[in-house]
Amino acid sequence: MTKRQATPEIATPTPAKERRRAREISAEPAVENVPRRKRAGKPPKAREADFVVIGAGSGGVAAARRAASHGARVILVERGAIGGTCVNRGCVPKKMLSYGATWAAILSGCLSHTGGKEDWRDAIVRVNAEVARLNASYTQRLAEAGVEILHGEARLAAPTEIVIGNEIVHARKTLIATGARPRALPVPGGELAGTSDDVFTWQTVPASIAVIGGGYIAVELASILSRYGVKVDLLVREDWLLPRFDHDISRSLAEALAATGIRLHFNTDVTLLSQTNGAVEVCYRQDSHPGRTQTVRAQAVLAAIGREANVHGLGLEEIGVKMGPKGGIRVDRQFRSSERSLYAIGDCMAENIHLTPVAIAQGRWVADRLFGKRGDIADFDFVPTAVFCEPAIGAVGLTEAQAIEAAGGKADRIRTEIKRFVSLENRFGGNAQTSMFKLVLNARSGRVLGAHLMDNAAPEIVQTLAVALRLGLKTSHLKSTLPLHPTVAEELFG
Ligand code: NDP
Repeated sequence: MTKRQATPEIATPTPAKERRRAREISAEPAVENVPRRKRAGKPPKAREADFVVIGAGSGGVAAARRAASHGARVILVERGAIGGTCVNRGCVPKKMLSYGATWAAILSGCLSHTGGKEDWRDAIVRVNAEVARLNASYTQRLAEAGVEILHGEARLAAPTEIVIGNEIVHARKTLIATGARPRALPVPGGELAGTSDDVFTWQTVPASIAVIGGGYIAVELASILSRYGVKVDLLVREDWLLPRFDHDISRSLAEALAATGIRLHFNTDVTLLSQTNGAVEVCYRQDSHPGRTQTVRAQAVLAAIGREANVHGLGLEEIGVKMGPKGGIRVDRQFRSSERSLYAIGDCMAENIHLTPVAIAQGRWVADRLFGKRGDIADFDFVPTAVFCEPAIGAVGLTEAQAIEAAGGKADRIRTEIKRFVSLENRFGGNAQTSMFKLVLNARSGRVLGAHLMDNAAPEIVQTLAVALRLGLKTSHLKSTLPLHPTVAEELFG
């Protein structure tokens, strides 16, 4: 444990000093070619810290604040806006745009509101105001916690030696929490496709868009943009949406999205993007039409085909940090990389669940372990998850397929209960959209192994269900608990 008052001056370990000196010496000849003005510049300043956190996203901020609360001297390095993907280019602006889209759709359905593209302008102003409020609030809370923020690009000269512009920081421990970034579309013309990052900078929406991908981001953006009046084509590589979700739910969602006017193209293999007369043409092949190239033309294209670890330029490979096959940082159960003083959490890890609360839990656990009390890590078996499309999806626990696999392939050991209904909200909106609840059960004990819900209330319900599942929820508990009427959640009971 390291308390700020008690922390002795940290001596840079000799090998790092020697390595640095060796680098400086070996760099001497190159200096001859550097223009005089640069050579005469100030030598880098060296500072010391207990904990340097690189990346001020949800995980990094949580780790930095927690470590500071234990008295550690913490420096948090960020090259962009405080708050990272979740606050600036992900969860928060996405969810707010989704609220705007839902309200616009409800209002246009029953209260003679115009709806559509005009609403985007209003929505993005509100989103930007909230993102700015969060940036300021994060910065203030970090300052109050005693965390120093350095703005700039970090590079590791050694596991505990971080170079940020003109500064060098020697850290006892370093945490990489740099997150992930959208993967580029690997086809000719792929650079014509934007990513989810771009959407939040739009002042207006295009008339039409082709969205490539079938995961969380593609589905959420397709649904949001469609509700702002954009004509959407969704090109999915598999023959179902949301590969990690229960198939009954993804099938029902596909029907619901199609009913809202989104054109879904399954089994597509996108081969080429080209610009033609102010539009982008997406060429793709489909198993159902072998040998024939098909096209979709749209004013804009978005690729949401997964994200890759944001580790480029950090110098990790140069200092010998082992990376996973897809480029993320390999860590042990304590989030320690192959370099013992270097840790990684969140989306930049080689294997992880890419969700904000997961990164936060990991960041706090690492900070506690290094500077406070060693505690239990959160349970990652029952991580609730949601897709904020319309209707929304919420899920926790095993899908039917996963449950059967866990039962050694014995399908008779697993039972499911499925309910379909039209919610009061949709009745009010004059919309016959069907909601769906599916429970995956142990056939003998009635224990709930997984819950998969499709309704706009699903994410809120699933958050609480996650606790119940962890505590061993059975159908008998649901039957013996009185439901709250009228709610969507009551459909789980009785
Ligand atoms: P996902 O991993 O969820 O989905 C990627 C999709 O793209 C898959 O359907 C994949 O198909 C497809 N794909 C991959 N390569 C290609 C290709 N070359 N051409 C066409 N399709 C391709 O990634 P996302 O980008 O949607 O999201 C990234 C992460 O962000 C997720 O892991 C998620 O956890 C997180 N996130 C969470 C949100 C939430 O909690 N609501 C919201 C947004 C993001 P295939 O299966 O065939 O590889």
